[in-house]
Amino acid sequence: MRRCVVCRASLPQAELFRLVREGDAVELDLTRKLGGRGTWVCRNCAAAVTEKRLRQAFKGQAPQVAQLLSQALAATPQAGHGGATPTATAAATHTNGGLNV
Ligand SMILES: [Zn+2]
Repeated sequence: MRRCVVCRASLPQAELFRLVREGDAVELDLTRKLGGRGTWVCRNCAAAVTEKRLRQAFKGQAPQVAQLLSQALAATPQAGHGGATPTATAAATHTNGGLNV
């Protein structure tokens, strides 16, 4: 069990994302095998947490962490929920930038 740094819930490792701090940089560790000191954030927090909240745990690295967490969510679609791919719709809205009624 690992503790989420945001909500402090203890959860199995599979329910959390691991972030590893490397000096001023933060790396997302989806394999949970990188060396170094890991910080854990649960899926719920990764989806809902604000940069301000992250700042308490990550300070100046908060914006980077927020970005990594959204990548983590995109890279690991929740099992058993089925269906839609959010990344495809995001790409579609980008190319279709006009009045298309
Ligand atoms: Zn959490």
